[in-house]
Amino acid sequence: MSKRIVLASGNAGKLREFSAMMADLGLEFVRQSELGVPDAIEDGLTFVENSLIKARNAAKMTGLPAMADDSGIVVDALGGAPGLYSARYAGEHGGDAANNTKLLEALKDVPEEQRTARFYCCIVYLRHADDQLPIIAEASWEGRILHGLSGANGFGYDPLFFVPTHGCSSAELPPEEKNRISHRGQALRKLHELLEREPKA
Ligand code: IMP
Repeated sequence: MSKRIVLASGNAGKLREFSAMMADLGLEFVRQSELGVPDAIEDGLTFVENSLIKARNAAKMTGLPAMADDSGIVVDALGGAPGLYSARYAGEHGGDAANNTKLLEALKDVPEEQRTARFYCCIVYLRHADDQLPIIAEASWEGRILHGLSGANGFGYDPLFFVPTHGCSSAELPPEEKNRISHRGQALRKLHELLEREPKA
């Protein structure tokens, strides 16, 4: 029998990615929006805190185990910005294009060797809302911020993120390759390993 887990995200792409990765563990994911769960207020000061806030909200409202992720891009020359605020860097309704324009502008005088950055992803799993031993998987993906947009795959900051191991932007990688090496792909694999060790219910 499969175990139902509420995913604290309304994103259909994430649902597919999580379901595919965890399929062999007999986990069935349902989006919190399908269960009428309102979004939590993400007022944590770290990615880990925000993931926990989202997962706890979903677990509390549904009585189900919950999973949540939080991710963003961390740019060294900007003291870690946009970081936690990556989605709304250019304002609440800015969107990907405005975020990328703002990032390019912020780095316009920054030389190549100082344009280092990383995507970071944290995924947490709570067995129930009061779980004091959450399972936490984290990963980062190192790269550099380009001087202009390149590539049409992916989303968000992908067209500005140069991947040194592949010599192209993450928006130029085939989606399967990005999923294999990205911050989210790596964190999902770590989480899979940790969940495998959980006692079967
Ligand atoms: P969240 O994980 O949906 O909260 O993502 C936060 C924000 O970080 C996104 O809106 C993007 O701006 C950025 N981001 C996270 N992961 C990626 C990625 O794989 N590619 C490009 N941008 C990303």
